[in-house]
Parts: sequence; structure tokens; C-alpha cells
Amino acid sequence: MIAPVLPGAALGVLGSGQLGRMFALAARRMGYRVHVFSPDADSPAGQVADREVAAAYDDLDAVRAFARGVSALTFEFENVPAATAEAAAEVTLVRPAGRVLHVTQQRAREKAFLQAHGLPVTPFAIVERQHDLAGALAAVGTPAVLKTARFGYDGKGQARVDAAGALAGAWQAAGGGTCVLERFADFERELSVVAARGADGAFAHFGVVENRHARHILDVTVAPADVPPEVAAEAVALARATLEALDVVGVLCVEFFLMPGGRLLINELAPRPHNSGHFTVDACVASQFEQQVRATCGLPLGTTRQHAPAAMANLLGDLWQHGEPDWAAACAVPGVSLHLYGKREARPGRKMGHLTALASTREAAVAAVLAARAALTRGR
Ligand code: AMP
Repeated sequence: MIAPVLPGAALGVLGSGQLGRMFALAARRMGYRVHVFSPDADSPAGQVADREVAAAYDDLDAVRAFARGVSALTFEFENVPAATAEAAAEVTLVRPAGRVLHVTQQRAREKAFLQAHGLPVTPFAIVERQHDLAGALAAVGTPAVLKTARFGYDGKGQARVDAAGALAGAWQAAGGGTCVLERFADFERELSVVAARGADGAFAHFGVVENRHARHILDVTVAPADVPPEVAAEAVALARATLEALDVVGVLCVEFFLMPGGRLLINELAPRPHNSGHFTVDACVASQFEQQVRATCGLPLGTTRQHAPAAMANLLGDLWQHGEPDWAAACAVPGVSLHLYGKREARPGRKMGHLTALASTREAAVAAVLAARAALTRGR
């Protein structure tokens, strides 16, 4: 067992977006120093870190120099090249291990891994060449969704296929390269479980939440999800089995489709804190980011107990369309907290911040968070 990395030490983060920012805030609160590495300067994470290094992920000398300056290193972004994680691991403790990134940064590998471990996924086929698409569609069935295997998120690089005639267009839309063709899941709801696993193998989770999407981007999370207890127990059991199969030390989110009849299918894994776990910052004893700090450092995991029902609403760049949103109006709604990520440019679809509401019921929390978000642009 490696000795824990204790407060006062410097922790490194590869990636510098909002997830790195909230990790850095949690780590600094616990007395750590935080160094961030990404290609960007004045980044959301860099603004709140002790040190910000702007260099390319494939500049392995810069990666090694960065890693030498920290006692442990983690990621906020799973598409860091495998060689980058390996170079860092030559000189410091890297959690989760590069092997976890390797599986989860490529959809085809991720699906194959889940299937090999008996975890439920939608029927799928891995397609290497356009020529193989028709056979794959015959095996998977229609309707289907064609997804690029790498760097796909928030529905990017995805196309629906209702009939064989749509395959050529879908292949173009996915951008070529290895793809996964999967059966379209006519789900009732989308759920997720954010969980953590410590260096000692301990497991902790934040329960099952419901995720509502708009334009393929997470819009609202409701915590806890309104599902029967046996569905919640099954989702947590599947999440635990996933973290154990991957031997993760860190935080991982499992996204599910809840099918009619109560069956759960795993859609996707994220080997890091997740947008659907942002409510934990305001609503839980230890947030998902504090869990990432604890797991990375080899400390005992924190208590995940939730103080009250909560709802989270994302703030996308579209809200800036008619000028600066009315922050005071949102802050006037009782029970609501404002989180902004320090991004200068508000582009449509870009995640700029979020609101969290705590209330005595989940319905009241959803109503409060939506009222606060509506207030941002009222009169604009
Ligand atoms: P992903 O990038 O795989 O998380 O997909 C983004 C969103 O697209 C999901 O959250 C779903 O709303 C939708 N989606 C993805 N795959 C499927 C599928 N096989 N069936 C139905 N909807 C899907």
C-alpha cells in the first residue's frame, strides 16, 4: 500500500476545464496546492490553481517536467493521449491508471469491455470500414445509431440510421474511422450513478440521478431519481461492478438508459467527475470533486450523504445571446447556488456554468432551479 499524499503536497491535473476547476477548489480547500496542465492559458482550472502550465499533451518532455513537480496526478478529461499518461506515470503517482483511460476513451473498446464483463449494453457492432456497415446493420437491427469511436461527446459524431439507405450519410456524419453501430434504445429515462473507489478498494456512490437532455447536451439533473428502489439498487450494483472490473482508483460516472419494464443498459462511462454529479458540491457532505481528491491521494473516501433533494441546471452560452444574464435575479431565488466557470467566450452550446437548487422535495428543487434559470434572461 502506497502512503497517502497529505495536505500541503501539490496535486496535478491534466485538462483545465470546469471539472479541473472544481477539483482544484476542493483540493485547495483541503490544503493542497494544485498545478494544471493543458494547451490553454487563463483556463477555468488555471484561474483557481497555484500553477498553470500551457503546453501540448504530446509534448512529453513538458508532461514529465510537470509531473515531477506534483506528488500525484489525475485527469479531468479522458481524451488525454495514452502516451501522455504513461510519461506522467514514469515520474509520479497517476490515478486513475492510464489503463482506465485506454478503455474509456474509445467507445468500441469500452463497449467490448463492458460486454466481456457481463455488464448490460445496447446491442452493438464495431465497424472499421464503410464496406462493413450493411452487415453490421443487419446484425444490430433498425433503428440504430452510428457513433464515432473516439472523441465523441454530447452527441457529437453521431447519426441515427432508420434504414440501410441512411448508412452512407451516417458514415459521412460520423467522420469515418472506427465506429460503433448500436441499436437505438427506446428508453423511458436516462439515469446515472457517480461513484468513487479508493486505493484500498472502498466503494462510495452518490445514488441514482435522472438526467434530462436538450440537443444531446445534459440540461437538468434531478437527485435522487424518482425510480423504484429495486431499479436504484440495480444501478448502484452495476456501477460498483463497473468500477471493480476496471480496478479504478478515482471517480467514475456510469450513464444508463432505463428501458420500459425497468431494465438498465449502460450507455457510457466517464472515468472522472461528471456533469450529472455537480449537484454534490452543494448537496452532499463530500462532493464528487472531494472524492476525486481523496481517491487520488489515497485518503479514505468521504461521506456521500445528501442533505436534501437537489436539481442542477446547466447554463449554456446561448443564455448570453441578448447580453449578460441577470445574475442577481437568479441569486434571488431561495435555495439556489450559482456556479460560473470563468470562460470568457459564451458560444452557443458551450457549458459556461450551472445552478443548483436544494429543496424539501425533488419537484420543488426542479421548479426552483428552472425559475432561477428563466430569471436570467427575463426582460432581456
Ligand atoms: P452519448 O454521446 O453516447 O452519451 O450520447 C448522447 C445522447 O444521445 C445520450 O445521452 C442519448 O440521449 C442519445 N443516445 C445515444 N445513444 C443512444 C441509443 N443507442 N439509443 C437512443 N439514444 C441514444
